[in-house]
Amino acid sequence: MKVAFVTTECVPYAKTGGLADVAGSLPAELVKLGCEVKIFLPKYSLIDENRHGLKHNWDISEMPIRINGVIRSVHVYQSKLPNTDINVYFVDCPHYFYRHIIYTNDPDEDERFILFSKAVIETLQRLQWAPDVINCNDWQTGLLPLFIKDNYSWDRLFDNTATLFTIHNIGYQGLFSKSVLFSAEIREGLFYPGGPIEQDGAVSFMKAGISFADIINTVSNTYAHEILTPEYGAGLEATLVQREADLFGILNGVDYNIWNPETDKHLPYHYTINDFSGKYLNKKYLLNHFGIKPDENIPLIGIVSRMVVQKGFDIFADAINEMMSLDAQWIILGSGEDRFEELFRKLSNLLPGKVGTYIGYNNELSHLIEAGADMFLMPSRYEPCGLNQIYSLKYGTAPIVRKTGGLADTVKDWDEQNHFGFKDGNGFSFYDYSGFALYKSVERAVNVFKHKDIWKKIQTNGMKLDFSWTRSAEKYLELYKLAVENRQRL
Ligand code: ADP
Repeated sequence: MKVAFVTTECVPYAKTGGLADVAGSLPAELVKLGCEVKIFLPKYSLIDENRHGLKHNWDISEMPIRINGVIRSVHVYQSKLPNTDINVYFVDCPHYFYRHIIYTNDPDEDERFILFSKAVIETLQRLQWAPDVINCNDWQTGLLPLFIKDNYSWDRLFDNTATLFTIHNIGYQGLFSKSVLFSAEIREGLFYPGGPIEQDGAVSFMKAGISFADIINTVSNTYAHEILTPEYGAGLEATLVQREADLFGILNGVDYNIWNPETDKHLPYHYTINDFSGKYLNKKYLLNHFGIKPDENIPLIGIVSRMVVQKGFDIFADAINEMMSLDAQWIILGSGEDRFEELFRKLSNLLPGKVGTYIGYNNELSHLIEAGADMFLMPSRYEPCGLNQIYSLKYGTAPIVRKTGGLADTVKDWDEQNHFGFKDGNGFSFYDYSGFALYKSVERAVNVFKHKDIWKKIQTNGMKLDFSWTRSAEKYLELYKLAVENRQRL
């Protein structure tokens, strides 16, 4: 199976979120299953060319690509994904990709990713490499399935090329004015109210991906069902319902070479499922760093997150007084909306012996929090997959989560499982999106923490689970086969 993996983020080159982790891990697992994979990524100026060994590909000559009536000159650079034999192709167009950040609010944001999608197709033409499947990711690559089926349908090379469109977050849709039809050279006839690319009078890249891809998936089973409803579908639920038979959920895997308390290179102390002593040493180390007195009998609750409403910070703010009345300590790492940053700054000033806050991005600290905390809080309003709760399980740090999306698929509530006669709970969860429900579940966790034997059971239940990529990659391969079948039916 030949797979072109088209992404706008990929570890170790460029990252803003979970998509980068997926793009950096899934292709290698697919290769192990016998696939031939090529990765395509824009060549952002923030990618360190020397460090990653990018080389100009002289076999692919300059590609002139017309966007918004202007011909842009595009080149291709190449490198190998570290520790693999996978070729990564970087689309180079300084006019669009030499900016300070990956995603911008610039007026030509649509053009940047129209160019990227077309350049990927033109690179495939020059390589004379026809993939069986092009795996597109999120709205930035949403027009690519349309281009394959329409603009480039004249090219016999792609007669058997299918597309899989992966939705990592339906909340970001790429909505632009009708002028996209001209910029991207899309047929006028495809744009009409309720049509395959129209949304509220605008052109939606996400909707185009959903409408034209042969198969669609998202990053957990529960989220795949949730986005069929108005509460979670962000206006695209009706379009998704039409394609329900072709919509699947595959949970993201995690990379245990990086996230494993036995080997994690960011931890001062390692520990295992049989010997937790290092975990408490990490807790002491972490709390000392924040000037908080460690106590074995007081649980430490960790948060590592973008501070935005999606992640549940509004209900956290609603319940702040009740939460602070609990006998627990808190370490919070993140950045985002001013009002939430301000709230946590204030909190650590008011309660310096109880709350430690770090506003910003800090990879090393995120590892230390996973290891040092006793509990990890993720009260998300919606969560397509979520990675931190999966890391928490491996680190013996009981997740407290709202039962939504990938959180619902990975965290089993201890009390709920007990109620049904099972002892396999690995954390705590709540359903209602309210400060009260959040508070009650944290209170439950704090109470159970007092019972050391039960707590150890919860920890080991989580640590035993395996969310590595192997199983998820097999499921992707199944979807690729389905996509090929759908394509051949046309
Ligand atoms: P999303 O992609 O919606 O932000 P995920 O849970 O899928 O959420 O992935 C978030 C990733 O970013 C995790 O690897 C998490 O550890 C990391 N992360 C988020 N905020 C920070 C931060 N402030 N510092 C360090 N890492 C962070």
